[in-house]
Amino acid sequence: MRGTGRCIETDRHRTTTNIMSNIIELVNITKDYVNDDVVTPVLHGVNLSIPQGQFISIMGPSGSGKSTVMNILGFLDVITTGMYRFNGRDVSKLNDDQLADMRGANIGFVFQTFNLLPRTTVYENVMLPLIYSNVPPSKRHQIVSEKIELVGLGHRINNFSNQLSGGERQRVAIARALIRNPDVILADEPTGNLDSKSGEVVMDMLLDLNKEQGKTVILVTHETYTAEYGQRIVRIKDGTIVSDEMNGHRRTRDDHQPLK
Ligand code: ADP
Repeated sequence: MRGTGRCIETDRHRTTTNIMSNIIELVNITKDYVNDDVVTPVLHGVNLSIPQGQFISIMGPSGSGKSTVMNILGFLDVITTGMYRFNGRDVSKLNDDQLADMRGANIGFVFQTFNLLPRTTVYENVMLPLIYSNVPPSKRHQIVSEKIELVGLGHRINNFSNQLSGGERQRVAIARALIRNPDVILADEPTGNLDSKSGEVVMDMLLDLNKEQGKTVILVTHETYTAEYGQRIVRIKDGTIVSDEMNGHRRTRDDHQPLK
């Protein structure tokens, strides 16, 4: 009997440990878009557990559901059925204000199109998320300056965002994504509008944030080269995960392809 008791305790401990270490758990989720009376099923039973600190790449053809998954992960859209747990919390139990708070505190977004305000300085763009936070104004300047330095743009701090190259704009977007020190970075085709050299600089930054700061990075890309920065590569097709593999050839800073 004693042995059985210990075994149960050990299993319970293991289960608890697993739940704690997965920052994200999608359990058999579906997503239907409903426009007027037209229902479009887009995700069909997606299961995805992401441990804290993992760098995961999501690949798939256009229309396969990658952005839908990203929107759900970032609390920008809701699932139709199934369960989404973030840090062990059932997301469906949260109201809109709680979701906005969770998003602001835990998720940094990096988009293909940078989404910076034009004719607004680098400093102001990076500051923006702090305006809606409870960070006291006296501390904001230092935090903003640090993040801008981190992405190597200290010399551009007073430039307008439309005076920057694409690569520099994406680095501003990364600084903005980091401003509230999120655990998770959602990067949706972050190199899609960049030349290969600028793309590598951006990917190296995401790699460093993962390796050195332990950020969980969730990357959507259609490029195998870029996906290989991830420790794990998930492929989606027609709203279903068709493969989910650890990447034995993870790209590092030292094995860049020759520049074109
Ligand atoms: P991906 O990011 O892989 O290109 P998406 O997640 O954007 O794919 O889209 C998946 C499918 O869902 C596509 O067929 C798309 O047309 C459809 N879809 C996306 N958003 C909506 C919407 N708001 N209403 C109806 N269908 C949508």
